[in-house]
Amino acid sequence: MEIFLTEYAGVCVGVKRAIKMAHRTTEDSDGPIFVLHEIVHNNHVVNDLANRGVQSVDDVSEVTTGTLIISAHGVSPSVISEAKSRNLDVVDTTCPLVSKIHRIVKALSDKSYTILLLGEKSHDEVMGVQGHAKDNIHIFHRKEEIHGLPLTDGPVALVSQTTQSIKYFDEILTLLKERYPQLEVHNTICDATEKRQTSALEIAGNMDVMITVGSMSSANSRRLQEVSGGLCKDSYLVDTAADIRAEWFTGGERVGVTAGASTPDYLIEGVIEKLMEISVEKGVAPSVIRNESSEEEFIEVH
Ligand code: SF4
Repeated sequence: MEIFLTEYAGVCVGVKRAIKMAHRTTEDSDGPIFVLHEIVHNNHVVNDLANRGVQSVDDVSEVTTGTLIISAHGVSPSVISEAKSRNLDVVDTTCPLVSKIHRIVKALSDKSYTILLLGEKSHDEVMGVQGHAKDNIHIFHRKEEIHGLPLTDGPVALVSQTTQSIKYFDEILTLLKERYPQLEVHNTICDATEKRQTSALEIAGNMDVMITVGSMSSANSRRLQEVSGGLCKDSYLVDTAADIRAEWFTGGERVGVTAGASTPDYLIEGVIEKLMEISVEKGVAPSVIRNESSEEEFIEVH
């Protein structure tokens, strides 16, 4: 079995930063610590934080004292205001690239734009972005929803959830331009998402099997599996090595491995080890081809 690890895979700079800030909080803070929803969408990272004593809550109203960690996905300004009104210490791990969308949306809203947000309505990031606009923001995800978006002669802008597929964004853009000739476009898909999708697409067409390592709750992991599946029909999303089935392989395959932006390195290495074991069990000596590149970290960590 030949195992190929994509050039960009696994934890992005925003997730690294959020985990580092959360760990530091557990070392430095007295009193109870809470996190709103999941710090990042990976089951193992979430469980690790729970083991460090951080309790997960669904709403700021559940917290009456202590420290509240805001996840990398960001929140609406009303959540921060409410936390402050409850005298909570707030540790805001919102990824700077999500904060950038908050600023864009607020500026557009202040200028009375109709804002079209391509994203999943129930995703934490999308709900947080929505809260930065006054009211004229419309969230949609499927192409069929476009005809239901309001028609206007006024200014209209498109923004995107950071983890959308680049190809899908372009398809949506073509359709929207027919409906809104005046459309102003803000492609806010983040660099980490783009790099992971592009490097998966670079190899997927030459692979017999593609494995994406990531949790089902992770939007960017699901998207990676979808884009890989477009070029490689045997494409699987696995949370850990334990989800991999020997019957998916004969031993002689070329197997591509990629991972979502919230997947820790040790889970990727666990998957590679498991694939090597399966290859040996099938009587084929495995080889691992790595072509990894590193990414620059954000400079400031509070
Ligand atoms: S996927 Fe992009 S937006 Fe999300 S945390 Fe990583 S760098 Fe930030």
